[in-house]
Amino acid sequence: MERESKKFYFLSLGCPKNDVDSELWINKLEEYNYKSVKHPDDADFLFVNTCAFIKDARLESTEAIQKLGEIRTKFPEKKLFILGCWPQREGKKLLHLFPQVDGIFGNSDLEQTIDAFKRFNGSRSKVVCVPDKFAVCNPTFHKPDTFPYAFLKIAEGCDNHCSYCILPKIRGPFRSLPESEILRRAKFLIEKNYKELILIAQDSTAYGKDLGNGYNIIRLLHKLDDIPGDFLIRVMYAHPKGVTPELIQTISDLPKIAKYLDIPFQHFDNEILQSMNRKYTSEDIEIILENLNSVKNRIVLRTTFIVGFPGEFEEHFEKLYDFISRGEFTHVGVFQYSLEEDTPAYSMPNQIPQDIASLRKEQLEMIQDEIILKRNKSMVGKVFRALIERQTIRKGFVIARMEEDAPQIDRIIKLKSKLKPGEWCNVRLVKALAHEFLGIEDRNYHT
Ligand code: SF4
Repeated sequence: MERESKKFYFLSLGCPKNDVDSELWINKLEEYNYKSVKHPDDADFLFVNTCAFIKDARLESTEAIQKLGEIRTKFPEKKLFILGCWPQREGKKLLHLFPQVDGIFGNSDLEQTIDAFKRFNGSRSKVVCVPDKFAVCNPTFHKPDTFPYAFLKIAEGCDNHCSYCILPKIRGPFRSLPESEILRRAKFLIEKNYKELILIAQDSTAYGKDLGNGYNIIRLLHKLDDIPGDFLIRVMYAHPKGVTPELIQTISDLPKIAKYLDIPFQHFDNEILQSMNRKYTSEDIEIILENLNSVKNRIVLRTTFIVGFPGEFEEHFEKLYDFISRGEFTHVGVFQYSLEEDTPAYSMPNQIPQDIASLRKEQLEMIQDEIILKRNKSMVGKVFRALIERQTIRKGFVIARMEEDAPQIDRIIKLKSKLKPGEWCNVRLVKALAHEFLGIEDRNYHT
């Protein structure tokens, strides 16, 4: 008689890079005949893939672990595991913090940690597997549930050591996934009808630097663009150092590369950029913007800024405020500086009080909202090609997204349509808000 499969519940927190790792865990568990369930009450094994990037992320992870911990305590036959960035950062200390947890697994070498779980298989003793050696590059995944787009990890780790960031310690040094492997996975996803592949890494534009032999992001984009099919490739997390005139030209020229770039500039004041150890200046930022403005096809920009970094006095903040006010960016994420132990910024003088940082964040968000609302309104009446992403709860309505918007973080269009997720359509925008549009399908319009 066949043994009944054990059931697992998997909660993934944090960024798309973590989602990619979660996907690998889920695929492996299914391969080993465990069955995924949607509710923790129905599961034998409970997993939380944590984020430990900043304090707020750790708070979210804590809440999730405690909630699942209550279920674990109520039903002692269930087992609870925490994975990912937080175990990688804190090791077995987390077992003391969360005594209800049965095991912790780091993310430095996913194959090794998943094997350790398999060996655990219900044992009564607790398991800890946080390999201190980082794997060449954790593999990406094959079965994302975000159809019609998928995140494709191209590299792991980071060598930049920004003074506020703990990630190089958690994720290790920069390692590129072999180009052939990325292409194989991209082809697989395109054959499965995925319409948008989003290239992610801690530092995407550094792709290939550790591989030698001419491997780099530009060559990778050309190879991806050569794959037959009707799809888009989007580049996220482009460190400004890697945004060369050649890369900008490539993005402008290649038809399947989205005319979109996410370049986290983080600040615009040279003193702050220097103490952040970003290794570029506001003059370098101006050159990048000039290069972006000089290409034939307009490239829409997303960026992020950090406010309240140690030593950010009013005059530094004003420079950043004036820079954003120029309206160069369609999408801006503003983050309040988070004090992280084990980073150089932790012991820097002139730490900025939280209330000031929070006010600065609000000020930047307000000015950006004004800019984007004005821009969105100027788009009303025009027709844009959009990808249907999902149906809404309201019958007959769908969510679509333009090339100039990335999934999950940028604007959406709501429209009435019978089209299915993964289909392209032309949409005339009829109403604009700061973060979404209402539109109607325009079948008479041909791009
Ligand atoms: S580029 Fe800087 S902020 Fe980004 S992951 Fe690397 S060290 Fe962290």
